[in-house]
Amino acid sequence: MNKEVLDQKVNDFMAKVIAKNPSEVEFHQAVKEVVESLIPYIEEHPKYKDGKVLERICEPERVLMFRVPWLDDKGEFQVNRGFRIEMNSAIGPYKGGLRLHPTVNLGVLKFLAFEQIFKNSLTTLPMGGGKGGSDFDPKGKSDNEVMKFCQSFMTELQRHIGPDTDVPAGDIGVGGREIGFMFGQYKRLRNEFTGVLTGKGLEWGGSLIRPEATGYGATYFAKEMLATRGLEIEGKTVVISGSGNVSQYACERVTMYGGKVVTMSDSNGFIYDPNGIDAEKLAYIMNLKNVKRGRISDYATKYGVEYHEGKTPWGVKCDIAMPCATQNELNEADAKVLVANGCYCVSEGANMPSTPEAVEYFLEKKILYGLGKAANAGGVATSGLEMSQNSLRLSWTREEVDQRLHQIMIDIHKTCVKFGKEEDGFINYVKGANIGGFVKIADSMLAQGLV
Ligand code: NDP
Repeated sequence: MNKEVLDQKVNDFMAKVIAKNPSEVEFHQAVKEVVESLIPYIEEHPKYKDGKVLERICEPERVLMFRVPWLDDKGEFQVNRGFRIEMNSAIGPYKGGLRLHPTVNLGVLKFLAFEQIFKNSLTTLPMGGGKGGSDFDPKGKSDNEVMKFCQSFMTELQRHIGPDTDVPAGDIGVGGREIGFMFGQYKRLRNEFTGVLTGKGLEWGGSLIRPEATGYGATYFAKEMLATRGLEIEGKTVVISGSGNVSQYACERVTMYGGKVVTMSDSNGFIYDPNGIDAEKLAYIMNLKNVKRGRISDYATKYGVEYHEGKTPWGVKCDIAMPCATQNELNEADAKVLVANGCYCVSEGANMPSTPEAVEYFLEKKILYGLGKAANAGGVATSGLEMSQNSLRLSWTREEVDQRLHQIMIDIHKTCVKFGKEEDGFINYVKGANIGGFVKIADSMLAQGLV
């Protein structure tokens, strides 16, 4: 299909999506990226076109929006908005994280739920796509306030979820503390101890390696991409954004492979440590972020390194970049600076961190570009493994889970190569992940009739 025809078809399709879902810009962005990859494939496979699979996949099966009232420490009423998007259950119960961040709205969660469908399919595990959360900001709140919010949020959400229906997990702003409060409330209201959430504590049904999984997985994916060009992580300089769950374990795994991580960031700025963030310094960051809930600028003070207020780290020279903070954190200008500085591999720990223009530039320059849908699928894959262990009422060892995670990332990479290798040998991971994730979903939807 020539580019003009493809552009026309994409624009026609997107016009309908935009008209139906006005102002949900992140959702439009996520759909467009997938549709651009899929339309040529669907034209060659008319059963998907006749079955209107693409149109159906863009429509959530169910959208839940609800009031979350809670009392703050002064005894004053607060109110937030809660969401759960049950996007697609063609291959398993809805599965996807909960995000607590002031920027959360319907469009953001629909983009995340939409991406989740393809990501979960790529893992080969039986999980449908979902996402949820609230515009509640955990920053600056006491443990008591976070608990009050989580209990109120779960009081409504529990009506809609269950171990065979919908199994939420963590995401931005939702770690072990929040999952604990939510699980406790679910248990009280439903009088059942089930695997209804993943990311649980080890003592009460959690899986070893789940905290590490997304960051480790994005590193395993980078390793596979590099291997296609005879390269490895050892000795390479790596720039990481964010300093939360995904960033921390990406840093740990890269360092274990002998790479040197020179940056980390938060929403206020980034630190640049030319000597590398080693295990001891990373332990400091983990305590700073997970226990003290402080700012990354403290690292600069502690270790006497540069701190760049209000900036992202993409101007720092590196071989490999791992955006691990949030959506649209890396734009076209950043992509150009990265490539000009010699970066040849991008492995996305975050969801949709690169803008469409940045992605286009990476593809044009034919660097190794591993999009989040594929590169960060290790998190949900290990959540899938947590669900399996809960169903079996067994716990696997750290080595066993890590080995399964690693194999899943190798297999996702293989799927991307299968569907994304172009005539000149370049691997277009965007195309590979989108088509590779789509086929199983589409075939399942066709088999299930009017769904
Ligand atoms: P955390 O809440 O643990 O950490 C998020 C990090 O990103 C923090 O450093 C935060 O800084 C920074 N950040 C958040 N929002 C912004 C923003 N608007 N601008 C700049 N920095 C920001 O979240 P996770 O590490 O769990 O998630 C990070 C990304 O990875 C997200 O895109 C998420 O969807 C994705 N992801 C997570 C998975 C998981 O298993 N946790 C699985 C797959 C994908 P600050 O502290 O200042 O807010």
